[in-house]
Amino acid sequence: MKRQDILIIGGGASGILAAIIASRNHFNVTILERNIKIGKKILATGNGRCNFTNTTATKDDYNHPEFVSKAFQVFSPFKTMNFFEELGIAPKVEDQGKTYPLSEQASSIVDVLLYEVNRLGIKIITEALVKDIKKNNNLFTVTLENGKTYNADQIIICTGGKAMPSSGSDGSGYMLAKMMGHHITPIFPALVKLKLDSPYLKQLDGVKFPGRVELIHRNQVLQEEQGDILFTKFGISGPTILQLSRKANAFLAVKEEVWVKVILVNLLSRKDVEKRLSLAQNRPIDFSLIGLIHKKIIPSILKEAGIHNPSMLVKDVSIKEKNKLIHLLFDWRFLVKESHGFEDAQVTAGGVDIREINEDTMESKLVKGLYFAGEVIDVDGLCGGYNLQWAWSSAYLAAISASSEKK
Ligand SMILES: Cc1cc2nc3c(=O)[nH]c(=O)nc-3n(C[C@H](O)[C@H](O)[C@H](O)COP(=O)(O)OP(=O)(O)OC[C@H]3O[C@@H](n4cnc5c(N)ncnc54)[C@H](O)[C@@H]3O)c2cc1C
Repeated sequence: MKRQDILIIGGGASGILAAIIASRNHFNVTILERNIKIGKKILATGNGRCNFTNTTATKDDYNHPEFVSKAFQVFSPFKTMNFFEELGIAPKVEDQGKTYPLSEQASSIVDVLLYEVNRLGIKIITEALVKDIKKNNNLFTVTLENGKTYNADQIIICTGGKAMPSSGSDGSGYMLAKMMGHHITPIFPALVKLKLDSPYLKQLDGVKFPGRVELIHRNQVLQEEQGDILFTKFGISGPTILQLSRKANAFLAVKEEVWVKVILVNLLSRKDVEKRLSLAQNRPIDFSLIGLIHKKIIPSILKEAGIHNPSMLVKDVSIKEKNKLIHLLFDWRFLVKESHGFEDAQVTAGGVDIREINEDTMESKLVKGLYFAGEVIDVDGLCGGYNLQWAWSSAYLAAISASSEKK
């Protein structure tokens, strides 16, 4: 026998998982999704491979560790892998714990979720853009853009954030939360490319190399990342930069200057480079850098060092310019102008204020029977499976709480 009705607003990662868990607990579940299909954003994740969890993820990988703690206890990355294995997903664990389906197809994740949703008889209503929520006498009434209304004893808001609005998550969930009296903390794009203030971007566009980057604020290192770096015509990207972008944007939001320091030579010491140059005295200065750094970077770094004649012999370059060049190889700083927008971001920083949500249940502290899960909440993590893991963990906690025996 089915118990109460639960309405889930948003059929993304968190909404689908919440629906499955609540339905397995014998609740009547309906998903309201504005798109023509559920799970659209999942298909775009992990470059189409869906990095669905990270075996190393812990609460400390998020902006509010204590708030996410309970959700991680009840639905850890290990439990996530078991959940998906039971549905048929063989996991493939890659570097730094990043986990993908062995098929390397994000569609596999959507397919198995959809199979389970159908097996359980969960109702999916698509093209259902929720515009309004009200609560009267313990009953929620939700109104769609087309005027249709639905009632439920409980609601789980799983509308995502604002990143990649073309996927359906355009921030409309914040409005629904506000209607229920909730506050939204300042939101900004995270895991996103940065725009730099530099005259060299045209020349550097497309250059990709392994190196180290640091985010600098008032000469202090805020964060450091190692791996691929990619210059673009607007600035800088690559996995290293995406990881720095959240902190960069948090400082830019309060009008603080931040710099990206690029360490082009990562595996040699300053002394090693000095020795290389001293052995290349009779060679042109541009040629002396071949084999050390990406060829396309050489003209720009020479200009930045004040060396305007690239064919000048190393022995003829002044000590001051040589020192500047060596310094730049280990510390080339670029002022961050801004980041790309939500269209290019993988995740939203900010969201429903965690102080208004019970971290043991994901239930609103303001409205009984109202729950939140996923990116709509002010929780975000690094790139590498952490954000989907938060979507699964918070959805599981919200769903078991909403469908617990005590109800
Ligand atoms: C390009 C890209 C790649 C990514 N890759 C990864 C990755 O590999 N690993 C990882 O961990 N994370 C990744 N992420 C982040 C991850 O996809 C999200 O954090 C996660 O999907 C959030 O899940 P969610 O359920 O909270 O929201 P979403 O997945 O955004 O789902 C929200 C759903 O709600 C619907 N909706 C919104 N408002 C309404 C409304 N008013 N009425 C009805 N329906 C509504 C939307 O249409 C959408 O289907 C990536 C993100 C992007 C953009």
